Amino acid sequence: MFSYRHAFHAGNHADVLKHTVLIATLAHLLEKEAALTVVDTHAGAGLYRLDGDYAGTSGEAADGILRLLAPKTTQKPAAMSDAPDLPAQGRARKAAKPAGTIDAPLAPAIQGYLDLVRAFNPNGGSRVYPGSPFIVHHMLRDHDKLKLFELHPTDARTLDANIAQLEAGRQIAVLREDGFGSATKFMPPPSRRALMLCDPSYEMKTDYGRVLDLIGESLKRFATGTYAVWYPIIPRPEAHDLPRRLKTMATKAGKSWLHATLTVKSSKVLTTPTGDQKRPGLPASGMFLINPPYTLKGQLQPALEQLKTLLAQDRNAGFTLDSGG
Ligand code: SAM
Repeated sequence: MFSYRHAFHAGNHADVLKHTVLIATLAHLLEKEAALTVVDTHAGAGLYRLDGDYAGTSGEAADGILRLLAPKTTQKPAAMSDAPDLPAQGRARKAAKPAGTIDAPLAPAIQGYLDLVRAFNPNGGSRVYPGSPFIVHHMLRDHDKLKLFELHPTDARTLDANIAQLEAGRQIAVLREDGFGSATKFMPPPSRRALMLCDPSYEMKTDYGRVLDLIGESLKRFATGTYAVWYPIIPRPEAHDLPRRLKTMATKAGKSWLHATLTVKSSKVLTTPTGDQKRPGLPASGMFLINPPYTLKGQLQPALEQLKTLLAQDRNAGFTLDSGG
């Protein structure tokens, strides 16, 4: 327990998916004036340095947010007439769309995500990456509330210190409590409008069952809340079962749902020329929402099409987007 530190993974492809969906969802919920309560059941440290030791060691952001911030991702490839005087084959190659680039404006959901990350780097560059607590706080209005759960002793301390700098007073509560066990106490919130983000580390396989218990209990207490669950797509039965069981839960409760997944590479274990087995790292992840905004699917379709191209690490890259209810 507690070997997971989000600082190693901040800004990776899973964060790109999760935070793009979070921002689009929140933007819709904030269109209504009535106060919103956001419950982040697994908050992390809040802010991360992409030029620090953790992110530098893992290099995961390089294949996530840093690819999107790199100017080449939004550049159109040179038109034939712009190409220098090259032999025909060279011209053809010059005009072809380089791997990992798109020749269209970014989808609004991706643009919204990048604008928000850039707001944390006002002098340009990409040193700082906001985790979910800071993404949410950046978007909330003064009358909205944010409840943050974090159990890791070091990350909880860092989160406390980061949040203290916001001087947000009673708008934000940081709780060193078990998010699985305690988050339902905020359901329903007084304003009867809430978004719960459930983003555990899945360090223990019991986490999958605990997610289901938490969402099931929360739905019982507050059936009209919006619930967003991130999960890793890995070769483990519990990981495959989770979205299926969330879908059953939503359907039985008569609630709408949305399921988005993003794959960036094959999940196959590779054998190196020296015969060593090399695990590929996280190949894919998903977001499952209950009571999603009705606009979300239309926003995510073009965004996922572009993310698939921009974040592809091999030709297994892909996405899925389903909804029901
Ligand atoms: N939501 C964050 C974001 O998007 O920036 C990332 C969260 S990270 C994936 C999961 C966090 O949950 C870790 O910081 C871990 O220490 C914390 N954690 C693990 N078990 C927990 C529990 N039972 N209750 C609250 N936090 C927990």
